[in-house]
This record gives sequence, structure tokens and C-alpha cells, in this order.
Amino acid sequence: MLAKTTDYRYCTLMSKIFIVSTPIGNLEDITLRAIRTLKEVDLILCEDTRVTKRLLERYEIDTPTMSYHAQSKLSKVEKIFTLLEEGKDLALVSDAGTPTISDPGCLLIAQVRERFGDAIAIIPIPGPSAVLSALAVSGFPASEFLFLGFLPHKKGRETLFKEIADAKRTVVFYESPHRILKTLESLRKHLQPPPSLKLRRAGKRKILVARELTKIYEENIIGEPEEVLAHFLNNPDRVRGEFVVVIERK
Ligand code: SAM
Repeated sequence: MLAKTTDYRYCTLMSKIFIVSTPIGNLEDITLRAIRTLKEVDLILCEDTRVTKRLLERYEIDTPTMSYHAQSKLSKVEKIFTLLEEGKDLALVSDAGTPTISDPGCLLIAQVRERFGDAIAIIPIPGPSAVLSALAVSGFPASEFLFLGFLPHKKGRETLFKEIADAKRTVVFYESPHRILKTLESLRKHLQPPPSLKLRRAGKRKILVARELTKIYEENIIGEPEEVLAHFLNNPDRVRGEFVVVIERK
């Protein structure tokens, strides 16, 4: 039984918008505070209400939901503003992980800040995010890293791979199953050590591909780019699901 305590750091008369992190696969990866917040708010803004419904059912949360996504019209934002003006508390969730991190919500939060300034409390309820989970299991230096979200499909892609090859920080990005092989091929090409270093182990950088983190078919493949590429070429049934790529720094 969850205690119904209130530890909000802000005036209770002020409307609040909670940015609530939800699981990236395993439904048990949710904090007690996230569950309590989702129960207590007046409305949950969901990227896809059908996806969030599974989580809400699991935790017997019957708070009303409303969709808010990248294509949401201005009228939806106005509706959200009205609810906040009426004193309602809202939670923002995405389909998985931390909203606003390569996910809808960033613009909404910026708009709420612009419209209300300090009059609305914007409160994070931290939890899972695929970027941090992949980075944590990589074993690569993580005291500083460069997160690139999703790479561009065409324009600027080659330049970005050159920058990744030169990066002096661990690099992390999200990738889709449609492009993972192409990306691994580009990494194989760009992370080649210069000819003078070719025979030296020191020149070989590793990458980690985290697939389906926290889910049934979770796997973390670590090795030189050609080894990781070979793994997926030899196991085409594994070129599916969700991927995070982590690259050892130079
Ligand atoms: N906001 C989310 C977060 O905090 O992790 C990320 C949302 S972004 C739209 C979705 C991408 O995150 C996926 O395409 C994949 O690259 C990555 N991702 C999300 N869940 C994952 C998982 N369980 N395993 C591996 N990658 C995942």
C-alpha cells in the first residue's frame, strides 16, 4: 500500500506539471513516486494513450488520459493551458522512458514556461531512460558523454560520423532496426584506426549495441564495429526491436 503523502516542494495552490519517467520495457521499472503521482494528478498527457494504458492497468491507476504528441495542434496546447489555469495538476508521460528526451513534450514544457513563468511548478519524477541504461552497461567512461538522440537520415550524416570518429567523449545515440546495419557499416568505416596504428591494439575502439533493454530479448553486444556488425549479419532475426549505440571515446 502506497502512503498518500505529499512531498511536493512547491506551493500546493500552484498548478503543477509532472514530467514522469515510465519503464523502457520491464513494467516493474517505475518508482513509487511515479505511481503515486500518476494516481494523484487530474489528467495524464500521453504520447499514445493505448501504450500508457497497459502501465496504468498494471498499477490500477484510473486517472483520465489525453493524448499529447509531436503532431498535437495549438488548440491542444491551449486546452492544456486552460487546465493549468483552472488549477489542475497534470502528468506528462511518453511511450517509454523519460519524456522530452528524444520524445514529445520538450516544446510543451517550453511553452508552459513562456506562458506561465514561475506560476506553474514543473516537477521531474525521475526514472528510466534508455540512454543512461545503455551507457551504464557499456563500461565506457561515463563521467562525461555526448548524446546525439537519433542521427539524421541523410543530410549531415557523414559529417556526424566523422565527428563521432574524432570524439574525445563517449558517444551515445538511438537507432532504429531499419538503419542499424547501415549505421554499423558506417561505424566500421569511420572508426578504422589510421594505417600507422593498424597493428596496434590501442587503435581499436569498441562499441556497444544495447538491444531491447530490460525486455525478454535483451542483449548487449560489445566489440569492435566489424565484430558487432558480423553478429547482426549472422543473426538477422536480431535486427529488430529497439537499439542504443554507445561508442568508446578516442
Ligand atoms: N524518452 C526515451 C528515453 O528516455 O529513453 C527515448 C524515446 S525515443 C523516441 C525511443 C528510442 O529510445 C528507441 O528508438 C531506442 O533507440 C531507444 N530505446 C527506448 N527503449 C529502449 C529499450 N528498451 N532498449 C533499447 N533502446 C531503447
